[in-house]
Amino acid sequence: MQDEDFLRRPAAPQPYSLTPAILYLSSDAVHATHKLLQRAGRNESCVFWYGERHGDNASVHSIRAPVQRSRRGNYHVEPESMSEMVRDLRAAWRPLAQIHSHPGVEVEHSRYDDAMVSSRRILSIVFPYYGRPIANWPSDIGVHEWQLNYWHMLSSADAMARVRLREFADVEVRDFR
Ligand SMILES: [Zn+2]
Repeated sequence: MQDEDFLRRPAAPQPYSLTPAILYLSSDAVHATHKLLQRAGRNESCVFWYGERHGDNASVHSIRAPVQRSRRGNYHVEPESMSEMVRDLRAAWRPLAQIHSHPGVEVEHSRYDDAMVSSRRILSIVFPYYGRPIANWPSDIGVHEWQLNYWHMLSSADAMARVRLREFADVEVRDFR
């Protein structure tokens, strides 16, 4: 398996068009995501966000890391590990985003990432520097959304509109590793 940074993908066939959908999460949720990604050390890893959807709005209430294989340049989750992770999700919770880390500053999807996202109805978000703290939220992360047959990486302005911080309690953190 090549490191995924060698797997460049073609450019977007058309520009991304911002939708009315907004994903809300708390600063605690962001912090917990960094912590889970950092547990893999200098290896890529993944984390999933679950929560409630109400029309165009969604809010993150659960942050989960499945059993996975983490390597310097890629990660992998077996289907059984995905099943184990979601077995006890609350009935109202839906998958909202798949998050994974990259080694450096580059946060755009590789071809490997395009293939690894578990659903085209969720966001795919890349954190730089193996999940270590970042200076600028959300412009330092890569927020991707599936639209017209392509995983678009949103501009900083679009990412800011699409993924927003809002403080609320009731966020659980689970590490299945
Ligand atoms: Zn990647």
